[in-house]
Amino acid sequence: MNKLVNFPYAHVLVLGLAKSGAATAQVLLDSGIQVRVNDLKATEEDELVSELRSLGADVVIGSHPLAVLNNIDLIVKNPGIPYENVILKEAVNRDIPIITEIELAGQLAEEMIIGITGSNGKTTTTMLIYEMLRMSKTPVKLAGNIGIVATEVARSLRHEERLVLELSSFQLMGIKTFKPKIAVLLNIFEAHLDYHKTLENYKLAKANIFINQLEDDYLIYNADEPNVVEASRSAKSIRVPFSVSVKLENGAWVDEDYLYFKDERIIALKDIVLVGTHNLENILAAVSAAKLSGATNQGIIEVLKTFTGVTHRLQFIANINGRLFYNDSKATNILATQKALSSFNQPTILLAGGLDRGNGFDELIPYLKNVKGVVVFGETADKLKDTSLKAGIKTIIFAENVEDAVHKAYEMSESSDVVLLSPACASWDQYKTFEERGDMFIQAVHTIK
Ligand code: ADP
Repeated sequence: MNKLVNFPYAHVLVLGLAKSGAATAQVLLDSGIQVRVNDLKATEEDELVSELRSLGADVVIGSHPLAVLNNIDLIVKNPGIPYENVILKEAVNRDIPIITEIELAGQLAEEMIIGITGSNGKTTTTMLIYEMLRMSKTPVKLAGNIGIVATEVARSLRHEERLVLELSSFQLMGIKTFKPKIAVLLNIFEAHLDYHKTLENYKLAKANIFINQLEDDYLIYNADEPNVVEASRSAKSIRVPFSVSVKLENGAWVDEDYLYFKDERIIALKDIVLVGTHNLENILAAVSAAKLSGATNQGIIEVLKTFTGVTHRLQFIANINGRLFYNDSKATNILATQKALSSFNQPTILLAGGLDRGNGFDELIPYLKNVKGVVVFGETADKLKDTSLKAGIKTIIFAENVEDAVHKAYEMSESSDVVLLSPACASWDQYKTFEERGDMFIQAVHTIK
């Protein structure tokens, strides 16, 4: 197990238990550091509580008494806990530094980290890089915002292994010394402003991915995005741009027919399975990171020829009698559905609807050009019907749920149509999660076969 060396803090408060808090406490304890854990929701029955106590941690649960700050010289907080939390506010007053577990993962695995951030496309790009390295037989592990605790993986990382780390702005906000060897900055859209308050703050959080990088590190960034280009100017590292629109000598780019890294032709665009310009951006970023980490062209090509998309993100499911079924259940807002619709040139049947957040859907109208039919469901069914009428779509059908929608879509479809689930809404009116909704779609598609 890797340990923290020369760690400058002796008494650490881990705020928030769960999976990441437990892994954090374990690494700290293992490195000889005194640990206190504080969690509001955990109970005495929780196994983690007794386990951490048996390892020597002081575990305080059920409330946030300010006394948990006594003698503490560092806080490692769960990324989901807002800075308005009473303990964190008081810690700021007392000048106690606050970090997230990503910082510890950084100290355990610094030279090996490939970190990916952006408002959209993180998971897709992270998976692409991971697969490209795996296919190239480069030892590699996966962690971070993707749902795998970074510290836990960094703790057992062997020194020849790379660590591909998906990073959210929440995770990046609290860093002090964290730096990836290779950073990827995909895009910066207005998002999460409830947490970050202003776009400026959000940009700063995203820029944290390269803020500590040195001259021999790399920053892969989207040269087509003004926010990203502007943010990247302050980087000390070697800047490696990617673009879907211009030729680049020092990065990844495309012409009409091929994808290139610098002056090397990598693959014909027609051989790439993933659809959509946004995915082409993710691919260019991934190819750059993979090339800089020693992946082989053969490994990269293999992935691009077979990768059908991350589950629920414009994921190709099946060709059934010429109809191409795509699952984009992750599209829980209008922007994501616009992206999905822009990815296809052929006649499309759109399956949409879900939780009503009070907004209208007319921003979809310019993107509905290829849509020949719509199947609507959930709380927003009526609103989506109105939008579709305004867009001049003739066939608009109501369905009970996603399963019913799949069957109704199939009935109206013809060979070479795209049948696309891209709901433009959250799933919580009918499903527990967007994953559950997407799984229903996949199952229903397979029953048609
Ligand atoms: P994240 O992990 O950042 O949420 P995902 O890879 O899971 O991103 O993709 C989520 C959705 O975001 C996709 O279904 C697509 O609609 C959209 N998206 C993906 N990549 C991009 C991109 N590069 N630019 C804009 N939108 C994107």
